[in-house]
Amino acid sequence: MDPQRLSSLKCMSPQKKNRPSHQESPESFIVFGAPQIEQDEIDEMIATLKSGWIGTGPKVQQFEQAMRVYKNAEYTAAVSSCTSAMHLSMIAAGIGPGDEVIAPAMTFCSTINAILHAGATPVLADIDPRTMNIDPKDMARKITKRTRGFLPVHFAGRPCEMNELMALAKKHDCKVIEDCAHAIETEYEGKKAGTFGDFGALSFYVTKNMTTGEGGMVLAKRKEDIDHIKVLALHGMSKDAWARFSDKGYKHYLVTHLGFKYNMTDMQASLGLHQLRRLEHNWQRRQHIWNRYQRELADLPITLPAEPAPDTRHAYHLFPVLIEENAGMTRDAFMEEMTKQKIGVGVHYLSIPEHPYYHDHLGWNAEDFPHARHIGQTTVSIPLSAKLTDAEVDRIIETVHQILQR
Ligand SMILES: *Cc1c(COP(=O)(O)O)cnc(C)c1O
Repeated sequence: MDPQRLSSLKCMSPQKKNRPSHQESPESFIVFGAPQIEQDEIDEMIATLKSGWIGTGPKVQQFEQAMRVYKNAEYTAAVSSCTSAMHLSMIAAGIGPGDEVIAPAMTFCSTINAILHAGATPVLADIDPRTMNIDPKDMARKITKRTRGFLPVHFAGRPCEMNELMALAKKHDCKVIEDCAHAIETEYEGKKAGTFGDFGALSFYVTKNMTTGEGGMVLAKRKEDIDHIKVLALHGMSKDAWARFSDKGYKHYLVTHLGFKYNMTDMQASLGLHQLRRLEHNWQRRQHIWNRYQRELADLPITLPAEPAPDTRHAYHLFPVLIEENAGMTRDAFMEEMTKQKIGVGVHYLSIPEHPYYHDHLGWNAEDFPHARHIGQTTVSIPLSAKLTDAEVDRIIETVHQILQR
């Protein structure tokens, strides 16, 4: 746990209350990806707790509906995480043992795990070094007669090359499941990310553009798919728990599928409803911070992220910079300095083959994905949360200058 979260936990313990506060320095730690929780969420959560129903119920339905409208999606199902959303989408897509799914070599591990948990075989494609998104040309090279699906990731909130990707999917009769963990606000030629493919998976993990603590959502094109996913997300039961325990009397449920425990609760949806209301406002705030970084870090010997492509909308989820040879220091040394200056940083991501599990069990080698490896070894994300104050953004910009100009 990072130092600030730890110390705020300590503050809540009764023993500490009467002790004098010790060595609080004027500048506190800027937590990477700090969530913005406001009074509306707190009030809604308390109302839910007092309502007598905290499981999967009316607020989850309301949240699914609100997100369906926001995303202009046909159907939505709230679940426990983006990981479970991708896993269930794989199953609903009919992808399983013997099938290959193409995914980027640089992403969060759970993109790949969702394919493995469905029993299918992940096949990696390298990324484009400038956009950091999966390269459709490398995808085309990786297609075999067993390829059944694509799992693109809209990295950092920038949409993938959806025209090329969807044309490839159509040509090879592949299902498309979009990992939209960074891409709630993302659009490509006026269409929302997550609505191109058969399925889209959203994340409401604590560091994402909006949060429910833990949580996710499936977007789907077809009613039979979303119905299947809703059954799978709650033990494979034919009726959900809310209906089962409602005041209309006990209803028998029948287990019709081998399901999972992947449902979202009304406590989580209580946060999500208000986070979604502030989503666009927070997007503007992050866009402002992004633009400041692009302008005010331009003179440094680092590679800044690609600006959004024309006719697209970037979700501004991450601001990844590359600390390459000409920076005069390693990426890891830069991260250490930032942490010393009380600024939280992140790495998104080490390339997938560099993790021992995938290297050992799937035989992948980082050399085979040179762009993913290079980015994975040089990238560092600086804070881009809507919660940052102007003074904090000033401090981040100044600190990056100081560290690199030494
Ligand atoms: C965070 C993240 C996930 C996983 O999301 P969870 O909701 O934590 O399961 C998947 N893919 C990417 C690209 C992510 O950043």
